[in-house]
Amino acid sequence: MAPPVTPFNSQVIRDAFPILGRRVHGKPLVYLDNAASAQKPEAVISAMAQFQRTSYANVHRGLHTLANEATQAFEDARTKVAHFIGAGSAEEIVLTKGATEAINLVAAGISQRLEPGDEILISELEHHANIVPWHMAAQRTGAILKWAPITPDGALDMDKLSALITPRTKMVAISHMSNVLGSVQDVTAIVAMAHAQGALVLLDGCQGVVHQSIDVHAIGADFYVFSGHKMYGPTGIGVLHGTPAALDALPPWQGGGEMIEIVSKERITYNVPPFRFEAGTPAITEAVGLGAAIDWIQSQDQAGLHAHEQALLNYTMEALHGVNGVRLYGTAPGKGAIVAFNVDGAHPHDVAQLLDRSGVAVRAGHHCAQPLMTALGVTATARASFAAYTTFEEVDLFLAALAKARNFLL
Ligand code: PMP
Repeated sequence: MAPPVTPFNSQVIRDAFPILGRRVHGKPLVYLDNAASAQKPEAVISAMAQFQRTSYANVHRGLHTLANEATQAFEDARTKVAHFIGAGSAEEIVLTKGATEAINLVAAGISQRLEPGDEILISELEHHANIVPWHMAAQRTGAILKWAPITPDGALDMDKLSALITPRTKMVAISHMSNVLGSVQDVTAIVAMAHAQGALVLLDGCQGVVHQSIDVHAIGADFYVFSGHKMYGPTGIGVLHGTPAALDALPPWQGGGEMIEIVSKERITYNVPPFRFEAGTPAITEAVGLGAAIDWIQSQDQAGLHAHEQALLNYTMEALHGVNGVRLYGTAPGKGAIVAFNVDGAHPHDVAQLLDRSGVAVRAGHHCAQPLMTALGVTATARASFAAYTTFEEVDLFLAALAKARNFLL
Protein backbone atom coordinates (compact mmCIF):
# COMPACT_ATOMS: atom_id res chain seq x y z
CA MET A 1 0.00 0.00 0.00
CA ALA A 2 1.42 3.38 -1.01
CA PRO A 3 1.44 5.99 1.74
CA PRO A 4 -1.19 8.70 1.20
CA VAL A 5 -0.06 12.19 0.30
CA THR A 6 -1.23 14.70 2.90
CA PRO A 7 -0.92 18.45 2.37
CA PHE A 8 1.00 18.57 5.60
CA ASN A 9 4.75 19.12 5.28
CA SER A 10 6.39 17.09 8.04
CA GLN A 11 9.85 17.81 6.65
CA VAL A 12 9.58 21.51 7.46
CA ILE A 13 8.42 20.55 10.92
CA ARG A 14 11.20 18.01 11.33
CA ASP A 15 13.80 20.65 10.63
CA ALA A 16 12.56 22.50 13.72
CA PHE A 17 13.48 19.54 15.99
CA PRO A 18 17.27 19.18 16.25
CA ILE A 19 17.23 15.72 17.87
CA LEU A 20 15.50 14.18 14.86
CA GLY A 21 18.74 14.41 12.91
CA ARG A 22 20.54 11.91 15.11
CA ARG A 23 21.21 8.27 14.39
CA VAL A 24 20.67 5.25 16.61
CA HIS A 25 22.74 2.08 16.04
CA GLY A 26 23.87 3.64 12.77
CA LYS A 27 20.27 4.09 11.53
CA PRO A 28 18.20 7.25 11.30
CA LEU A 29 16.20 7.73 14.50
CA VAL A 30 12.52 6.85 14.11
CA TYR A 31 11.04 8.27 17.28
CA LEU A 32 7.65 6.67 17.96
CA ASP A 33 7.52 7.14 21.75
CA ASN A 34 5.65 10.41 21.70
CA ALA A 35 2.87 9.35 24.06
CA ALA A 36 5.55 9.01 26.76
CA SER A 37 7.25 12.29 25.91
CA ALA A 38 7.55 14.35 22.74
CA GLN A 39 10.74 15.92 21.40
CA LYS A 40 11.35 19.66 21.64
CA PRO A 41 11.57 22.18 18.81
CA GLU A 42 14.49 24.58 18.70
CA ALA A 43 12.03 27.37 19.55
CA VAL A 44 11.43 25.79 22.99
CA ILE A 45 15.08 24.98 23.62
CA SER A 46 16.23 28.47 22.72
CA ALA A 47 13.40 30.29 24.54
CA MET A 48 14.43 28.55 27.76
CA ALA A 49 18.13 29.23 27.23
CA GLN A 50 17.47 32.84 26.24
CA PHE A 51 15.33 33.45 29.32
CA GLN A 52 18.09 32.04 31.54
CA ARG A 53 20.68 34.17 29.77
CA THR A 54 18.80 37.45 29.88
CA SER A 55 15.86 37.68 32.28
CA TYR A 56 16.16 34.99 34.94
CA ALA A 57 15.23 35.82 38.54
CA ASN A 58 12.70 34.56 41.07
CA VAL A 59 9.11 35.61 40.39
CA HIS A 60 6.35 37.59 42.07
CA ARG A 61 7.98 39.18 45.10
CA GLY A 62 10.79 41.14 43.53
CA LEU A 63 10.98 44.86 42.89
CA HIS A 64 14.00 44.86 40.62
CA THR A 65 13.98 44.78 36.84
CA LEU A 66 14.92 41.13 36.37
CA ALA A 67 12.31 39.99 38.90
CA ASN A 68 9.70 41.97 37.04
CA GLU A 69 10.77 40.57 33.67
CA ALA A 70 10.76 37.01 35.02
CA THR A 71 7.35 37.51 36.61
CA GLN A 72 6.03 38.87 33.34
CA ALA A 73 7.44 35.90 31.40
CA PHE A 74 5.97 33.42 33.92
CA GLU A 75 2.55 35.07 33.90
CA ASP A 76 2.63 35.38 30.09
CA ALA A 77 3.02 31.59 29.99
CA ARG A 78 -0.05 31.20 32.20
CA THR A 79 -2.02 33.49 29.87
CA LYS A 80 -0.86 31.52 26.81
CA VAL A 81 -2.06 28.29 28.41
CA ALA A 82 -5.43 29.90 29.20
CA HIS A 83 -5.91 31.04 25.57
CA PHE A 84 -4.66 27.72 24.20
CA ILE A 85 -7.34 25.68 26.00
CA GLY A 86 -10.17 28.22 25.88
CA ALA A 87 -10.15 29.03 29.60
CA GLY A 88 -12.12 32.03 30.80
CA SER A 89 -9.04 33.69 32.29
CA ALA A 90 -5.45 33.11 33.42
CA GLU A 91 -6.73 32.79 37.02
CA GLU A 92 -8.20 29.41 36.02
CA ILE A 93 -4.71 28.05 35.30
CA VAL A 94 -2.64 26.50 38.10
CA LEU A 95 0.91 25.73 36.97
CA THR A 96 2.05 22.44 38.49
CA LYS A 97 4.98 20.09 38.10
CA GLY A 98 2.92 17.94 35.74
CA ALA A 99 -0.38 16.14 35.33
CA THR A 100 0.45 13.76 38.16
CA GLU A 101 0.92 16.60 40.61
CA ALA A 102 -2.26 18.28 39.36
CA ILE A 103 -4.35 15.16 40.00
CA ASN A 104 -2.78 14.64 43.43
CA LEU A 105 -3.55 18.27 44.27
CA VAL A 106 -7.22 17.86 43.37
CA ALA A 107 -7.54 14.44 45.04
CA ALA A 108 -6.01 15.75 48.28
CA GLY A 109 -8.39 18.73 48.29
CA ILE A 110 -11.48 16.68 47.49
CA SER A 111 -10.52 14.14 50.18
CA GLN A 112 -11.22 16.77 52.80
CA ARG A 113 -14.88 16.72 51.74
CA LEU A 114 -15.30 12.96 51.23
CA GLU A 115 -17.20 10.83 53.72
CA PRO A 116 -17.37 7.06 54.12
CA GLY A 117 -19.64 5.62 51.43
CA ASP A 118 -19.11 8.50 49.00
CA GLU A 119 -18.11 7.27 45.57
CA ILE A 120 -15.27 8.13 43.21
CA LEU A 121 -15.70 6.86 39.67
CA ILE A 122 -12.67 6.19 37.47
CA SER A 123 -12.24 3.77 34.57
CA GLU A 124 -10.27 0.72 33.52
CA LEU A 125 -8.32 2.71 30.96
CA GLU A 126 -6.76 5.22 33.33
CA HIS A 127 -3.05 5.91 33.68
CA HIS A 128 -1.80 5.19 37.22
CA ALA A 129 -1.60 8.97 37.70
CA ASN A 130 -5.41 9.01 37.57
CA ILE A 131 -5.81 5.88 39.70
CA VAL A 132 -3.40 5.97 42.61
CA PRO A 133 -4.36 9.43 43.99
CA TRP A 134 -8.02 8.30 44.06
CA HIS A 135 -7.12 4.98 45.68
CA MET A 136 -5.28 6.98 48.33
CA ALA A 137 -8.25 9.34 48.74
CA ALA A 138 -10.58 6.36 49.19
CA GLN A 139 -8.25 4.74 51.71
CA ARG A 140 -8.02 7.96 53.72
CA THR A 141 -11.75 8.70 53.79
CA GLY A 142 -13.68 5.43 53.49
CA ALA A 143 -14.98 6.51 50.08
CA ILE A 144 -15.58 3.76 47.52
CA LEU A 145 -13.59 3.58 44.27
CA LYS A 146 -15.72 2.40 41.35
CA TRP A 147 -14.46 1.38 37.91
CA ALA A 148 -16.16 2.00 34.58
CA PRO A 149 -15.35 -0.85 32.15
CA ILE A 150 -14.20 -0.67 28.53
CA THR A 151 -15.82 -2.04 25.39
CA PRO A 152 -14.05 -4.76 23.34
CA ASP A 153 -12.72 -2.09 20.93
CA GLY A 154 -11.16 -0.17 23.81
CA ALA A 155 -13.46 2.79 24.42
CA LEU A 156 -15.33 3.50 27.62
CA ASP A 157 -18.62 1.63 27.91
CA MET A 158 -20.84 4.69 28.20
CA ASP A 159 -23.99 2.80 29.25
CA LYS A 160 -22.17 1.10 32.10
CA LEU A 161 -20.44 4.34 33.04
CA SER A 162 -23.78 6.11 33.17
CA ALA A 163 -25.25 3.40 35.41
CA LEU A 164 -22.30 3.72 37.80
CA ILE A 165 -22.89 7.44 38.46
CA THR A 166 -25.20 7.78 41.46
CA PRO A 167 -26.17 10.55 43.88
CA ARG A 168 -23.29 9.25 46.05
CA THR A 169 -20.74 9.93 43.30
CA LYS A 170 -18.60 12.89 44.31
CA MET A 171 -15.94 12.73 41.60
CA VAL A 172 -15.73 11.27 38.10
CA ALA A 173 -12.09 11.20 36.97
CA ILE A 174 -11.58 10.02 33.39
CA SER A 175 -8.87 10.18 30.79
CA HIS A 176 -9.83 12.23 27.73
CA MET A 177 -7.71 9.99 25.49
CA SER A 178 -6.19 6.66 26.52
CA ASN A 179 -2.39 6.63 26.58
CA VAL A 180 -2.43 2.97 25.49
CA LEU A 181 -5.42 2.46 23.21
CA GLY A 182 -5.70 5.99 21.85
CA SER A 183 -9.47 5.88 22.33
CA VAL A 184 -11.05 9.31 22.81
CA GLN A 185 -13.90 9.53 25.27
CA ASP A 186 -17.10 11.50 24.78
CA VAL A 187 -16.14 13.90 27.54
CA THR A 188 -19.02 16.35 27.12
CA ALA A 189 -21.47 13.47 27.61
CA ILE A 190 -19.54 12.31 30.69
CA VAL A 191 -19.59 15.83 32.13
CA ALA A 192 -23.36 16.10 31.54
CA MET A 193 -24.02 12.73 33.20
CA ALA A 194 -21.81 13.50 36.19
CA HIS A 195 -23.12 17.03 36.72
CA ALA A 196 -26.71 15.77 36.55
CA GLN A 197 -25.92 13.74 39.68
CA GLY A 198 -24.01 16.56 41.38
CA ALA A 199 -20.56 14.98 40.88
CA LEU A 200 -17.42 16.91 39.98
CA VAL A 201 -15.46 15.89 36.86
CA LEU A 202 -11.69 15.78 36.40
CA LEU A 203 -10.42 15.01 32.91
CA ASP A 204 -6.90 13.72 32.40
CA GLY A 205 -5.96 15.53 29.20
CA CYS A 206 -2.33 14.38 28.92
CA GLN A 207 -2.92 12.79 25.53
CA GLY A 208 -6.09 14.66 24.63
CA VAL A 209 -4.43 18.07 24.59
CA VAL A 210 -1.78 16.88 22.13
CA HIS A 211 -3.94 15.28 19.50
CA GLN A 212 -6.88 17.69 19.26
CA SER A 213 -7.75 21.30 19.98
CA ILE A 214 -9.17 21.69 23.47
CA ASP A 215 -11.86 24.09 24.58
CA VAL A 216 -12.27 23.57 28.31
CA HIS A 217 -15.18 25.99 28.35
CA ALA A 218 -17.11 23.88 25.81
CA ILE A 219 -16.18 20.61 27.53
CA GLY A 220 -17.41 21.96 30.85
CA ALA A 221 -15.39 19.76 33.24
CA ASP A 222 -14.53 21.14 36.67
CA PHE A 223 -10.86 20.22 36.23
CA TYR A 224 -8.73 19.49 33.14
CA VAL A 225 -5.08 18.49 33.62
CA PHE A 226 -2.08 17.86 31.38
CA SER A 227 1.73 17.90 31.25
CA GLY A 228 3.98 20.15 29.18
CA HIS A 229 6.43 17.49 28.03
CA LYS A 230 4.02 15.55 25.81
CA MET A 231 3.10 18.71 23.88
CA TYR A 232 6.64 19.60 22.76
CA GLY A 233 7.36 21.52 25.96
CA PRO A 234 9.76 20.75 28.81
CA THR A 235 9.40 18.35 31.72
CA GLY A 236 8.70 19.71 35.20
CA ILE A 237 5.71 21.83 34.18
CA GLY A 238 2.04 20.95 33.87
CA VAL A 239 -1.37 22.46 34.07
CA LEU A 240 -4.39 22.19 36.29
CA HIS A 241 -7.31 24.03 34.76
CA GLY A 242 -10.18 24.55 37.16
CA THR A 243 -13.37 26.51 36.82
CA PRO A 244 -13.45 29.49 39.19
CA ALA A 245 -16.06 27.72 41.35
CA ALA A 246 -14.10 24.45 41.50
CA LEU A 247 -10.81 26.19 42.38
CA ASP A 248 -12.47 28.46 44.96
CA ALA A 249 -13.93 25.44 46.73
CA LEU A 250 -10.59 23.57 46.77
CA PRO A 251 -8.57 23.88 49.99
CA PRO A 252 -4.84 24.65 49.81
CA TRP A 253 -2.54 21.74 49.14
CA GLN A 254 1.12 22.29 49.93
CA GLY A 255 2.06 25.08 52.32
CA GLY A 256 4.84 27.59 51.75
CA GLY A 257 5.64 30.90 50.16
CA GLU A 258 3.31 32.55 47.64
CA MET A 259 0.18 30.52 48.57
CA ILE A 260 -0.54 32.69 51.61
CA GLU A 261 -2.01 36.10 52.20
CA ILE A 262 -1.01 36.73 55.84
CA VAL A 263 1.03 34.54 58.17
CA SER A 264 1.23 35.29 61.87
CA LYS A 265 2.18 33.22 64.87
CA GLU A 266 -1.47 32.49 65.45
CA ARG A 267 -2.97 31.96 62.03
CA ILE A 268 -2.68 31.88 58.26
CA THR A 269 -4.93 33.29 55.58
CA TYR A 270 -4.56 31.95 52.08
CA ASN A 271 -4.02 33.56 48.72
CA VAL A 272 -6.64 33.33 45.97
CA PRO A 273 -6.43 30.72 43.17
CA PRO A 274 -4.30 30.00 41.25
CA PHE A 275 -1.56 31.18 43.66
CA ARG A 276 -3.14 29.30 46.59
CA PHE A 277 -2.01 26.10 44.87
CA GLU A 278 1.49 27.20 43.89
CA ALA A 279 3.55 26.99 47.08
CA GLY A 280 7.24 27.78 46.73
CA THR A 281 9.33 28.87 43.77
CA PRO A 282 7.66 27.51 40.66
CA ALA A 283 9.29 26.00 37.57
CA ILE A 284 9.94 29.42 36.02
CA THR A 285 12.14 28.50 33.05
CA GLU A 286 9.93 25.50 32.30
CA ALA A 287 6.85 27.73 32.25
CA VAL A 288 8.62 29.89 29.66
CA GLY A 289 9.35 26.70 27.70
CA LEU A 290 5.70 25.65 27.88
CA GLY A 291 4.67 29.06 26.58
CA ALA A 292 7.14 28.66 23.69
CA ALA A 293 5.73 25.19 22.94
CA ILE A 294 2.24 26.65 22.75
CA ASP A 295 3.52 29.42 20.46
CA TRP A 296 5.11 26.76 18.28
CA ILE A 297 1.93 24.66 18.09
CA GLN A 298 -0.14 27.74 17.32
CA SER A 299 2.26 28.75 14.55
CA GLN A 300 1.38 25.46 12.80
CA ASP A 301 -1.69 24.53 10.84
CA GLN A 302 -3.25 22.70 13.78
CA ALA A 303 -6.14 21.18 11.84
CA GLY A 304 -3.65 19.97 9.21
CA LEU A 305 -1.42 18.60 11.93
CA HIS A 306 -4.23 16.60 13.51
CA ALA A 307 -5.34 15.34 10.09
CA HIS A 308 -1.75 14.27 9.33
CA GLU A 309 -1.55 12.28 12.58
CA GLN A 310 -4.89 10.69 11.80
CA ALA A 311 -3.69 9.70 8.32
CA LEU A 312 -0.53 8.15 9.84
CA LEU A 313 -2.70 6.22 12.27
CA ASN A 314 -5.07 4.91 9.58
CA TYR A 315 -2.14 3.90 7.38
CA THR A 316 -0.47 2.00 10.24
CA MET A 317 -3.64 0.33 11.48
CA GLU A 318 -4.49 -0.81 7.95
CA ALA A 319 -0.98 -2.10 7.38
CA LEU A 320 -0.97 -4.08 10.61
CA HIS A 321 -4.56 -5.29 10.48
CA GLY A 322 -4.65 -8.97 9.67
CA VAL A 323 -0.86 -9.40 9.74
CA ASN A 324 -0.22 -12.92 10.93
CA GLY A 325 1.14 -12.93 14.47
CA VAL A 326 0.48 -9.25 15.21
CA ARG A 327 -2.32 -8.33 17.62
CA LEU A 328 -3.70 -4.80 17.83
CA TYR A 329 -5.28 -3.30 20.94
CA GLY A 330 -7.70 -0.40 20.66
CA THR A 331 -9.70 -0.08 17.47
CA ALA A 332 -12.44 2.32 18.59
CA PRO A 333 -13.60 4.76 15.89
CA GLY A 334 -12.15 8.25 16.22
CA LYS A 335 -9.11 7.09 18.19
CA GLY A 336 -5.93 9.15 18.30
CA ALA A 337 -2.48 8.40 16.91
CA ILE A 338 -1.39 5.63 19.27
CA VAL A 339 -0.96 2.00 18.21
CA ALA A 340 -0.68 -0.68 20.91
CA PHE A 341 0.29 -4.11 19.67
CA ASN A 342 1.86 -7.43 20.51
CA VAL A 343 3.66 -10.06 18.48
CA ASP A 344 2.22 -13.47 19.32
CA GLY A 345 4.52 -15.54 21.47
CA ALA A 346 7.02 -12.70 22.02
CA HIS A 347 7.47 -10.44 25.00
CA PRO A 348 6.93 -6.78 24.03
CA HIS A 349 10.27 -5.91 25.67
CA ASP A 350 12.02 -8.16 23.14
CA VAL A 351 10.04 -6.58 20.31
CA ALA A 352 11.01 -3.07 21.48
CA GLN A 353 14.68 -4.05 21.77
CA LEU A 354 14.73 -5.53 18.28
CA LEU A 355 13.04 -2.42 16.89
CA ASP A 356 15.64 -0.28 18.63
CA ARG A 357 18.37 -2.12 16.70
CA SER A 358 16.68 -0.71 13.58
CA GLY A 359 16.64 2.79 15.06
CA VAL A 360 12.93 2.63 15.90
CA ALA A 361 11.97 3.84 19.38
CA VAL A 362 8.74 2.38 20.73
CA ARG A 363 7.67 1.82 24.33
CA ALA A 364 6.89 -1.58 25.80
CA GLY A 365 5.45 -2.49 29.17
CA HIS A 366 2.27 -1.85 31.10
CA HIS A 367 2.35 1.88 30.22
CA CYS A 368 1.41 2.76 33.82
CA ALA A 369 -2.00 1.22 33.17
CA GLN A 370 -1.99 -2.14 34.94
CA PRO A 371 -5.79 -2.34 35.40
CA LEU A 372 -6.13 -1.81 31.65
CA MET A 373 -3.60 -4.59 30.97
CA THR A 374 -5.73 -6.88 33.17
CA ALA A 375 -8.88 -5.87 31.25
CA LEU A 376 -7.07 -6.67 27.98
CA GLY A 377 -5.84 -10.00 29.35
CA VAL A 378 -2.14 -9.16 28.89
CA THR A 379 0.70 -8.09 31.14
CA ALA A 380 2.25 -5.69 28.64
CA THR A 381 2.09 -4.39 25.07
CA ALA A 382 4.38 -2.55 22.70
CA ARG A 383 3.22 0.93 21.67
CA ALA A 384 4.04 3.20 18.73
CA SER A 385 2.79 6.76 19.09
CA PHE A 386 3.01 9.52 16.50
CA ALA A 387 3.63 13.25 16.57
CA ALA A 388 3.55 16.22 14.21
CA TYR A 389 7.02 15.34 12.90
CA THR A 390 6.30 11.67 12.15
CA THR A 391 6.43 10.81 8.44
CA PHE A 392 4.98 8.01 6.35
CA GLU A 393 8.55 7.00 5.51
CA GLU A 394 9.13 6.48 9.21
CA VAL A 395 6.00 4.39 9.52
CA ASP A 396 7.31 2.27 6.64
CA LEU A 397 10.66 1.87 8.45
CA PHE A 398 8.76 0.86 11.59
CA LEU A 399 6.63 -1.67 9.65
CA ALA A 400 9.73 -3.14 7.99
CA ALA A 401 11.56 -3.38 11.32
CA LEU A 402 8.53 -5.02 12.90
CA ALA A 403 8.29 -7.56 10.06
CA LYS A 404 11.99 -8.37 10.62
CA ALA A 405 11.50 -8.68 14.38
CA ARG A 406 8.45 -10.87 13.90
CA ASN A 407 10.33 -13.24 11.60
CA PHE A 408 13.14 -13.42 14.12
CA LEU A 409 10.84 -14.06 17.08
CA LEU A 410 8.26 -16.42 15.55
N1 PMP B 1 -2.17 10.50 32.22
C1 PMP B 1 -1.91 10.07 30.98
C2 PMP B 1 -3.06 9.70 30.07
C3 PMP B 1 -0.58 9.99 30.55
O1 PMP B 1 -0.33 9.54 29.30
C4 PMP B 1 0.46 10.34 31.42
C5 PMP B 1 1.91 10.23 31.00
N2 PMP B 1 2.24 8.99 30.43
C6 PMP B 1 0.12 10.81 32.70
C7 PMP B 1 -1.20 10.87 33.06
C8 PMP B 1 1.16 11.25 33.67
O2 PMP B 1 1.81 12.37 33.21
P1 PMP B 1 3.12 12.94 33.97
O3 PMP B 1 4.00 11.76 34.23
O4 PMP B 1 3.71 13.90 33.01
O5 PMP B 1 2.65 13.60 35.24
